[in-house]
Amino acid sequence: MKIGIVGLGLIGGSLAIDLHALGHTVLGTSRQLKICQQAIAQGIVTDASPELSLLTAADVVFLCTPLGSIEAIFNQLAPCLSPDTIVTDVGSVKQPIVAAIAPRWVNFVGGHPMAGTAESGLDAAQSQLFAGNPYVLTPIATTPPQALSTVSELVRSLQGQLYQCPPADHDRAVAWISHLPVMLSASLLTACITEPDRAVIELAKKLASSGFRDTSRVGGGNPELGLMMAQYNQPELLRCLELYRQSLEQLIYSIQQQNWPALEAQLTQTQHARPEFIKEFIKRPPA
Ligand code: NAP
Repeated sequence: MKIGIVGLGLIGGSLAIDLHALGHTVLGTSRQLKICQQAIAQGIVTDASPELSLLTAADVVFLCTPLGSIEAIFNQLAPCLSPDTIVTDVGSVKQPIVAAIAPRWVNFVGGHPMAGTAESGLDAAQSQLFAGNPYVLTPIATTPPQALSTVSELVRSLQGQLYQCPPADHDRAVAWISHLPVMLSASLLTACITEPDRAVIELAKKLASSGFRDTSRVGGGNPELGLMMAQYNQPELLRCLELYRQSLEQLIYSIQQQNWPALEAQLTQTQHARPEFIKEFIKRPPA
């Protein structure tokens, strides 16, 4: 199959590595000529160019640029493609992308590989990034079954765990397990740095260990990613934050009232809830 990839960064580059290794013709585009040359030199693409017209011959095109640029890239790319070309994207929010592209490109299948690292760019691309990890496709009523089955087959060939759901369900689910945790972790760090006693905060930094490392990790990542989550998944994120505020207020109230049985009940409930959220994750092979 001829596969086009727009954006040879972490996700696009990783797709190129695996799909090329599987024997597909992989055509990549990047705005930077030196990235195209690097991808060719590393043998992860068949050809690469800053010109989107390179993808005219593609059977399937993956849009792998940041969320804020996917629609604009599609607008530039569409005139270069045959109507039979299947277009998919990898953006981590689905409703706005599907709403923008599906009405204009019938062979569009929204997608989100739930895999990544804290790095970005082609140098961060790696083989087997998607193996064992969820890869969500978000078809809608008008999505042609053939387009869905072609993208599904490609996902399976990457050894991704294929899930299908409506775009709205995807966005609501990832708000809970991805976007809300980024905001909570960021607000934890923000609160810590408001400690007025400099000596205390310096001591805290020396004492910080695995618990703080785990709870602060996603809030200390790339600000651009957090910003995109908030901008593109605003209604779902706000809904989760509001419910989170209620649960935080409940905790504060229990502690203020020294209602230790209520606090213990809440912490017992969360102790039981956590394994349900991570049981699928711990079944996966280590990255
Ligand atoms: P990345 O490593 O920064 O790669 C994105 C690439 O897109 C860059 O290498 C850049 O290449 C190109 N690009 C950047 N801005 C552009 C623009 N305005 N117009 C055209 N091209 C542009 O980012 P990534 O982590 O691969 O993320 C790409 C997509 O994957 C995003 O939509 C994100 O939501 C999704 N995603 C990310 C992760 C993750 O963990 N990182 C996981 C799942 C899905 P050039 O500058 O060379 O053109």
